[in-house]
Amino acid sequence: MPTKKTQRRTSKDHRPALRIGYGFDSHEFRLGIPLKIGGITLTHDRGLGGHSDGDVLLHAITDALLGAIAAPDIGTLFPPSDPKWKGADSAIFVHEALARVQDAGYRVSNIDASLILAAPKIGPHAAAIRTHVAELLGLPSDCIGLKAKTPEGLNLENAAIAHVAALLEKIPQKARPKKKASPKKKVRRTM
Ligand code: MG
Repeated sequence: MPTKKTQRRTSKDHRPALRIGYGFDSHEFRLGIPLKIGGITLTHDRGLGGHSDGDVLLHAITDALLGAIAAPDIGTLFPPSDPKWKGADSAIFVHEALARVQDAGYRVSNIDASLILAAPKIGPHAAAIRTHVAELLGLPSDCIGLKAKTPEGLNLENAAIAHVAALLEKIPQKARPKKKASPKKKVRRTM
């Protein structure tokens, strides 16, 4: 029978080298509020209402990171019913998810996102969004995939949707400090 000590060691050693997470979010467009996607404010006559600043992409990224480590989701950690989060910068949620990923012993390898919205066109802003998301996650921008599609056949002209997949990799253990030279070797050096 394994002891408690060996059970703990076995559990730690069997953490997977890679973990995948998936996040989804949707928000409704509303007149008279700014449109933020991926932390970038886009010029448009409507913004995304709802929880915090309504940044549908950052919310889906947050849930993908949290899901990868089986942590509580964004709605549990930051309830929309709590006025504290009304209008909040969604980067706060990403930072909390990142901290939890690091505490679990992982780091983000890359993410891939798909946005679905009728307007505005994302293409002209894609590079800025990828750069900003990369900075938030501490990654090069070529680790941030971003596609945008129109909601053809979905009858969702007044909504923005984000799907995000995130891959995490286990942080390698630091190299052990070198052992002190044995007395035998010291003797050899002095000869
Ligand atoms: Mg949301």
